[in-house]
Amino acid sequence: MSQTIQGVGAAPGINLGTAIWWRKEQPTVIAKSITNVAEETAKLEQAIQQAKEQITALRQIAADRMGEEEAQVFDAHLAFLDDPGFTGEMKSRIASQKKNAEAICQEVTEEMSSLMASLDDEYMQARADDIRDVGSRLLLLLLGKKPFDPSLLKAGDVVIAEELTPSDTAQFPEGIAGMVTAKGSKTAHAAIMARTLGIPAVLGLGAAINQINDDDTVIVDGDKGIVTLNPDTAQEQVVRTQIEKQKQAREAALKEAAADAYTADGKRIQTFANIGSLNDIEIALKNHAEGVGLFRTEFLYLESDHWPTEDEQYQAYSKVLSSFGERPVVIRTLDIGGDKDLPYADLPKEENPFLGHRAIRYCLANPDMFKTQLKALLRASVHGNLWIMFPMIENVSEIRATKALLNKCRQELAQAGIAVADDIKIGIMIEVPAAAITADLLAKEVDFMSIGTNDLTQYTLAADRGNEQVAHLYDAAHPAVLRLVKLTCDAANKAGIVVGMCGELAGDPTMTEILVGLGLHELSMSAGTIPEVKQQVRAVDSAKAKALADKAVQLEDGDQVRELAKQKQ
Ligand code: PEP
Ligand code: MG
Repeated sequence: MSQTIQGVGAAPGINLGTAIWWRKEQPTVIAKSITNVAEETAKLEQAIQQAKEQITALRQIAADRMGEEEAQVFDAHLAFLDDPGFTGEMKSRIASQKKNAEAICQEVTEEMSSLMASLDDEYMQARADDIRDVGSRLLLLLLGKKPFDPSLLKAGDVVIAEELTPSDTAQFPEGIAGMVTAKGSKTAHAAIMARTLGIPAVLGLGAAINQINDDDTVIVDGDKGIVTLNPDTAQEQVVRTQIEKQKQAREAALKEAAADAYTADGKRIQTFANIGSLNDIEIALKNHAEGVGLFRTEFLYLESDHWPTEDEQYQAYSKVLSSFGERPVVIRTLDIGGDKDLPYADLPKEENPFLGHRAIRYCLANPDMFKTQLKALLRASVHGNLWIMFPMIENVSEIRATKALLNKCRQELAQAGIAVADDIKIGIMIEVPAAAITADLLAKEVDFMSIGTNDLTQYTLAADRGNEQVAHLYDAAHPAVLRLVKLTCDAANKAGIVVGMCGELAGDPTMTEILVGLGLHELSMSAGTIPEVKQQVRAVDSAKAKALADKAVQLEDGDQVRELAKQKQ
């Protein structure tokens, strides 16, 4: 009897293969007193050295298979091995507590990773996984134990595990069919790696994962987040046809990806990449992004332990602008607050952080900090085609206040004799219902608008984007959201300004026709989906797309919209 288990679809695509458990031994560590501190420290140092050698080798494998940007996670692992707060702390505790290295290693790893995991910040939570990964490597080395032998894996296997770390996925051989884990979310490193490698992944199955046994035949549906155990022959046949179709579609899309995207009736739709760090530039260029539609600058602030200086920011913005030459690069100013905390910003706890002091509200209330970012952007503008975008705009006066501050920065730079480009485009994100409803008023103030459906959906449907309990209500394809998209597009088109979308919905190829039909000029997404979306754009007829969009906004819910979109595929 076949059986299905629901998890979180973390990397798209569907595949079928044979289950193999990647079992991780939980080593038992017994705390012991020691007398020879020097000997115990030397033991730890030797393990650190061996861990460095292993990680350097893994980094090489990852760089060869997935590219430089994905390999950089191992630089973070190597840095942890030299971190005074991590291995440094272990050495000082060996000396002060006179305990064996294994016990100290386990203790420090647990403390540091729990601390990071407890922070209300996805980036720091992901660092907790990195710490655990490095810590358990060190521990196994100290105990002289060997981890799971990845050479057991072969093409066609579906890897099943409690949790997978970047070190694990880096050792996958070619042709792994899928990945299924008990823990993990869409933003976990393992999910990012699976997407890069093109391996369908379903994560977060919880205890239900124990129903999967070695050698079971498994279907991994990364689009729906469903795992099917021991499918019958008819189910297998359906999936094999889907897999073949998927393969052909990807190959065809990649072949044509280099050319710009026009609809069948000749309307240009720009396909841009969303990037979240400088590491993403390479993959955006590889997937033929026609520009950057959203550069989330938060990483500069999250990776730092202080407010990033004007110079630090200038270096980063210059790099991304020069990498894209004449192509537009939309850089979004700091979007802090909500679910993104900054330890050094000392943000007060709020009852409703998503409705609170976040994004542009926070920046306008802290003009000195904001001016540092604006000046860094203006200085970098001479290196490319800069478009500056402000997040969470809700009314006209916020735009006017922001523009006034930007002008002040411009004047101060001019007085200091620093060059700034003349033709910087100024735009806003539409991610609050009020902004969409009054888009006609806001459009008069700016050169472009970009719809952030991730937030717009949660505010429109009153469903927290990070709360699993209301995940069934959170759907960017809901007609209520689409009607706001349409209002925004109509206002922008009437005002003659550019309107794009940079929320996750823009990267869903099944929705491309409806989105074009709603009146969008530009779609910005994770780089990997650009080839497929470009392909969808080329098949669109503008008049038919408009009729389809008009129909979609009249439907009852997101499921009906997605059904309509799929029928047209
Ligand atoms: C959005 O809200 O749609 C968006 C693109 O911004 P973020 O996901 O960074 O909030
Ligand atoms: Mg947002």
